[in-house]
Amino acid sequence: MQNTLFDVTGRVAVVTGGASGIGLGIATALARAGANVVIADLNGTEAEAVAQRLATETSSETMGLAVDVTSTEQAEALMTKTLERFGRLDILVNNAGIGIHCRPEEMTMEQWDLNVAVNLRSVFHLSKLAYDSLREGGGKIINIGSMYSIFGAGEVPAYAASKGGVVQLTKSLAVAWAEQDIQVNAILPGWINTGLGAQGRREMEGLNERVLARTPAARWGEPEDLAGVAVFLASDASKFITGVSIPVDGGYSVA
Ligand code: NDP
Repeated sequence: MQNTLFDVTGRVAVVTGGASGIGLGIATALARAGANVVIADLNGTEAEAVAQRLATETSSETMGLAVDVTSTEQAEALMTKTLERFGRLDILVNNAGIGIHCRPEEMTMEQWDLNVAVNLRSVFHLSKLAYDSLREGGGKIINIGSMYSIFGAGEVPAYAASKGGVVQLTKSLAVAWAEQDIQVNAILPGWINTGLGAQGRREMEGLNERVLARTPAARWGEPEDLAGVAVFLASDASKFITGVSIPVDGGYSVA
């Protein structure tokens, strides 16, 4: 008998920031698990290229769109185009994120606003826009937090504040929408080898050594390390799990 617990065949997922790094890892995992996937990324060319590649490599239907998640109009257009193409939305992965490296006393309010707009405001806005679709037949929201959802960070204060907010927003939406059969959970990645990870290594002196020394698994994570938990949170296997934040960090947060 086929095990359908982790099967998301025919469901439709939107992954923001899905053209690279962790978002690409999650989009790939969802497509391999059977979902049709919309790649929404600032880089529209790359989003389309990734969508085409996934459509070739898997049996999923895909679509790539240029979307700035901080734009109210573009976020609305993302939802409209997804429904026009697929007629439904079951899984929203709020992954797009940036980290502005700047000590608090030097940070401009423009930098603050931008970091919070990408990492936190967009999570609320897209979730709100997705609500009507997700409540039809039950839905899933997966938000991407960070180790800085838990720990303070003097060098990236707006990033840490926004990622802390993602955890609280995850809990609040989970409570608000549990009766509508929408499960809202977060993944808190440890240090993952992506473009953002490389940026961190460039900007934060000694980061590589600190990460390796502090992480019990003694390595950086790879985007594929997020695949299993993403499919779990997108599937019926997690039907009674909502409002939680799951670290995927090689033990970083418990050491
Ligand atoms: P990457 O920079 O590799 O990927 C982020 C993707 O999001 C890029 O494709 C980027 O596009 C896109 N993006 C950025 N801003 C926007 C926007 N306004 N609208 C739409 N798309 C946008 O980063 P990661 O894969 O590492 O990060 C993904 C998520 O994981 C982020 O939320 C990050 O905070 C989180 N995270 C990452 C960790 C790590 O160690 N890497 C650790 C903990 C959390 P473009 O390339 O064109 O800018």
